[in-house]
Amino acid sequence: MAEKGQERQPKSLCIILWEYVCGKQTEPTIFKLPECLIYEIFKLLSPVDKVCFTLSCKLFLNILSPTSHQFKFTGPFKAETHSLYLNWPAAARNKLLVRLENARWACCCACLKLHPREEFSCKSLQSPPLERRCMYNAGIVDLCPCLSFTFRDRSRLVKLLKDAAKGAASKSITDRWRKFHVTLTDDGEGLVHECSITRDDYVWTHVEIKLYLSTYEHLRTDTRYTIHMNPGPNRVVSNNPKQLRPNTNIFACPHIELFGHITKIQSWNTEYDYCVRCRTQLDLLPESCQNMISVLVSRALGTSSWPADIEWNNQCREVEY
Ligand SMILES: [Zn+2]
Ligand SMILES: [Zn+2]
Ligand SMILES: [Zn+2]
Repeated sequence: MAEKGQERQPKSLCIILWEYVCGKQTEPTIFKLPECLIYEIFKLLSPVDKVCFTLSCKLFLNILSPTSHQFKFTGPFKAETHSLYLNWPAAARNKLLVRLENARWACCCACLKLHPREEFSCKSLQSPPLERRCMYNAGIVDLCPCLSFTFRDRSRLVKLLKDAAKGAASKSITDRWRKFHVTLTDDGEGLVHECSITRDDYVWTHVEIKLYLSTYEHLRTDTRYTIHMNPGPNRVVSNNPKQLRPNTNIFACPHIELFGHITKIQSWNTEYDYCVRCRTQLDLLPESCQNMISVLVSRALGTSSWPADIEWNNQCREVEY
């Protein structure tokens, strides 16, 4: 047993590297480095290199990602903008997807995800990664500032709705986003998501999204936006803990930013309006008053079958190069 004071000291970096050069070590040198040095190296890397370094082995995934069992990309990898900026140098997510491609996975620029290579046609696999699409009408649809869906996500939602209709989900579903609950709509079972979005000190919005399958199994959403405008010291504030960051834009559809559109609301000749590009309908609800505007936005997300159709594509983010 080693006596106190005779415990083995960690080897210096020079000794570790020398042993590696002399062939005394067969393991990669980086595994012999003290953990504090690993952190120092990590701090110097670019965001894309940080992710690749973290994903290089389970050891680094465990020490560098505090929630390694549910690794989530943050910061520059979140596709939060309302357009897909595919070739922009600042789009870290795109760079990462291209870096992570391998013999099994290929980048899809429509979903901003990696898919198994067998999900692409031979022709599309020959395209550059940021021009490759898994299917013609694929794309990302934003339903709420906190919820964006690829077409594969949409298929999961359709399955949840069908399970709920069969009673298989026992009315309490566990969706992968953990943001929905089941409710009964005029068209049968639906999924509901609720959110609160703070615009600034005086404007906040309650969002209630209902997803359901209409006649002929078309997926639709009815979203009620209740916009509270309370100037003055007695303003009402949201007590919903799931507030998003201030100044978040809300898009009624990919082509209409709701707050910008609301300013034109006085000029609405009728109590409804619609987007000329995707036919999303906006209805001004009768409960609207001076300090509160309530708008119902109805969107069609295409048929529930595979592959994506033009209705889905009309609701997708626009692509910018
Ligand atoms: Zn795709
Ligand atoms: Zn939300
Ligand atoms: Zn539109």
